[in-house]
Amino acid sequence: MGEIGAKRWNFGANEVVERSSSLSIREYLNTLISNLDEGDTRPVIALGHGDPSPFPRFSTDPSAVKAICDAVSSTKFNNYASASGIPAARKAVAEYLSRDLSYQISPNDVHITSGCLQAIEILISALANPGANILLPRPTYPMYDSRASFSQLEVRYFDLLPENGWDVDLDAVEALADDKTVAIVVVNPCNPCGNVFSRQHLQKIAETACKLGILLIADEVYDHYAFGDKPFVSMAEFAEIVPVILLGAISKRWFVPGWRLGWMVTLDPHSIMKYSGFVQSLTNVINISTDAVTFIQGAIPEILGNTKEEFFSVKLEKMRECAEICYEEIMKIPCISCPSKPEGSMFTMVKLNLSLLEDISDDLDFCCKLAKEESLIILPGRAVGLKNWLRITFAIELDLLIDGFSRLKNFSQRHSKKKP
Ligand SMILES: *Cc1c(COP(=O)(O)O)cnc(C)c1O
Repeated sequence: MGEIGAKRWNFGANEVVERSSSLSIREYLNTLISNLDEGDTRPVIALGHGDPSPFPRFSTDPSAVKAICDAVSSTKFNNYASASGIPAARKAVAEYLSRDLSYQISPNDVHITSGCLQAIEILISALANPGANILLPRPTYPMYDSRASFSQLEVRYFDLLPENGWDVDLDAVEALADDKTVAIVVVNPCNPCGNVFSRQHLQKIAETACKLGILLIADEVYDHYAFGDKPFVSMAEFAEIVPVILLGAISKRWFVPGWRLGWMVTLDPHSIMKYSGFVQSLTNVINISTDAVTFIQGAIPEILGNTKEEFFSVKLEKMRECAEICYEEIMKIPCISCPSKPEGSMFTMVKLNLSLLEDISDDLDFCCKLAKEESLIILPGRAVGLKNWLRITFAIELDLLIDGFSRLKNFSQRHSKKKP
């Protein structure tokens, strides 16, 4: 694709890949990290990405670690797994998800994946027929956008409405869809907004998807991470209305994203996905994808079946405490505002009021200067589709969270317009 020296080479940069990766959070985080001041002796505080696993406050349950060790020691899981996962793991996920449902999920409908992210990759690949489009939320979890771009699946955005607690703008969904629209994605509890959908709203989303004749993809990787007034309700409850694909993982609830264990569940009581041929396409993509590590799968029955309720309730309470402090601290800083108090997941979105700042041009400028001057990493809203907003995670150690906000306060004061 170009001449290097005197010779022509046929390979080179791939524009599709470049476009896709430019949408990723990692790209933005790398930009911010490159702005850090090496002379600053303070520890870097990372409120830009959600991985609380390094912090003692959010350490995983020792019983889960033991389950992994036992699975390895048994030497029973040194083999390749079957494409959709080992039967015991599929059964364990079906039982785990069915605990809170009014019906039983069949293990045959469960496909084990290498984290929730691989479920997204497989699903987007299977949906990407030439000419098709998919409806994604704005703000978004950008891996959907990157994968869609990579698979050349057209993306159309519907808004989540901050003034309505980040509910889906259902009128916009109807206006966006046409006969090439294949699916809609909803994330609940929501990354990046930190809201939890009510049962009534979930039902309305399902009814809208049914009306449009599209698949409903429910990303529930933050299942049960609801610490406000609204309980977590799974979209699985509405599979009678519209075919649902449920995505999940142990990454967030057990604080082990590095274990790479997730799932994709097809909920299709009226066999719509099956007779449309989509289930077969999904199976075909699974057949050409790598499997989740077998010994992690081997530990899943123990992890999902025997983690004590107390582990979840203690960690949820710790997350609620972090969210509470985060919200209080946000309210003390004039140039940012949080339209909707976080009630789930590990994130919240805040709006930047640039008119109060004197030398900040936009969200990216704010975050780059913040990294440089305060060794504090916060994600610019544009990384999740909302320019001049910020996404903040509160899932870190409390003293770091408080220190982070004091740096944010100092920074904001320093850059505020001075009153004459
Ligand atoms: C973290 C996350 C994922 C990816 O989960 P992994 O199990 O780490 O691959 C998917 N969707 C959302 C909304 C997430 O926040």
